[in-house]
Amino acid sequence: MGNLRDVVIVGGGISGTAAAYELARAGASVMLVERGELASMASGWTLAGVRQSGRHPLELPLARAAVRRWAALGEELETDIEYRQEGNLRLARTPDEVPVIARLVEEQRRLGLGIEFLPDPAAVRQVAPALSGAVVAASFCPTDGHANPTATVRAFAAAARRRGAVLCIRTEVVDIGVRGGRVQGVRTTAGSVAADAVVLAAGVHTDRLCKMAGVEFPLRTEHVAVVQTVSLPPLIRQVIGVANADFAGRQEVGGRMRMTGDAFPWQWPPGALGADDVQPPAWAVRAVLDRAVAVLPALSDAKVARVWGGLIDLTPDGLPVIERAPEVEGLVIAAGFSGHGFCLGPITGQLVRELITTKRPSLSLEGFRRARFAAPGPKAAAELHG
Ligand SMILES: Cc1cc2nc3c(=O)[nH]c(=O)nc-3n(C[C@H](O)[C@H](O)[C@H](O)COP(=O)(O)OP(=O)(O)OC[C@H]3O[C@@H](n4cnc5c(N)ncnc54)[C@H](O)[C@@H]3O)c2cc1C
Repeated sequence: MGNLRDVVIVGGGISGTAAAYELARAGASVMLVERGELASMASGWTLAGVRQSGRHPLELPLARAAVRRWAALGEELETDIEYRQEGNLRLARTPDEVPVIARLVEEQRRLGLGIEFLPDPAAVRQVAPALSGAVVAASFCPTDGHANPTATVRAFAAAARRRGAVLCIRTEVVDIGVRGGRVQGVRTTAGSVAADAVVLAAGVHTDRLCKMAGVEFPLRTEHVAVVQTVSLPPLIRQVIGVANADFAGRQEVGGRMRMTGDAFPWQWPPGALGADDVQPPAWAVRAVLDRAVAVLPALSDAKVARVWGGLIDLTPDGLPVIERAPEVEGLVIAAGFSGHGFCLGPITGQLVRELITTKRPSLSLEGFRRARFAAPGPKAAAELHG
């Protein structure tokens, strides 16, 4: 093999770039390989909510640790990543949904999260005056927030580069070398690289990369429509989600509203993925806009700037995999974030570093091993709540 590295990271989204930064600052010799541009898949398509509320009990400690990192991340990475910690509201739009929200608040409080129940339209509108009076109740977690996803990924990448990491952009990993149960390195479209460890942070492509190393990873792909308006006057500071997860939205720092709908199963096209393959169908865009105007009536006249589609790397239980693959020494997997891996990015990077440098992660990763998929269980649906 040509080059020699301690670690090769596959994927230039938030998970891969955060891992590159963490490993490079720990002194490792790192190469990150990205087949497209930085943040060209989920980490660019994302709504980019930074949310602890509504997390699965296993994931909540990771989200809380991530939020502690987000607070000073812009300073740490020496870039304005437009992080705003102004809360997340999850809305009940019908009386039936009120007990769903009330239960969520109770469960999350029991787990130690600071989250309030807003029991009526007046309480909701006191927090977010632009919301429709038809919103009957909501949860409110003031320590949730949002950030600029592309700026964050670029900031991680730049900080990794400043610490010596090499970034190979528009370069695809086409094979992973394994010998005697140990990873040897990767073959890319630009040549081969030998490495002691290979990190797979390749989003919806991670199952294929696992196969190259002889490892199974059950992933399904789902599709979500995203609508972005032109820049609008200040409308809402909080990220909003809804009880049944068919809508989420936030106003970006520059004033644009960025909004998503619900997730649907998606068929991979034959051959290479073209940009148009991921564009959303008209019915999905219309659904996002209808739901947006129902909760934020001021949006009915808003001009739409862009629509795009996003793909979700969905695991059978909707929770990620963050592990050292037991079958192949040196192979680390961080994928399957199932529609909520943007918030986790900073902590994912830290945990990958710990798995490689100390083999002792600072948070329990017991619930995030692939081995759990051996037992059959109900299939999770992707749920986006901002
Ligand atoms: C519409 C939408 C809304 C979302 N909303 C939120 C939200 O509000 N909050 C939240 O926390 N999360 C949200 N998510 C989820 C979140 O965006 C993702 O979980 C997160 O961005 C995943 O980052 P990643 O780095 O793991 O994967 P990606 O960002 O997908 O990065 C993987 C990279 O690997 C590269 N790659 C793949 N194969 C290869 C190869 N063979 N060689 C080289 N490179 C390769 C890809 O090109 C890609 O750039 C949302 C996702 C979507 C799609």
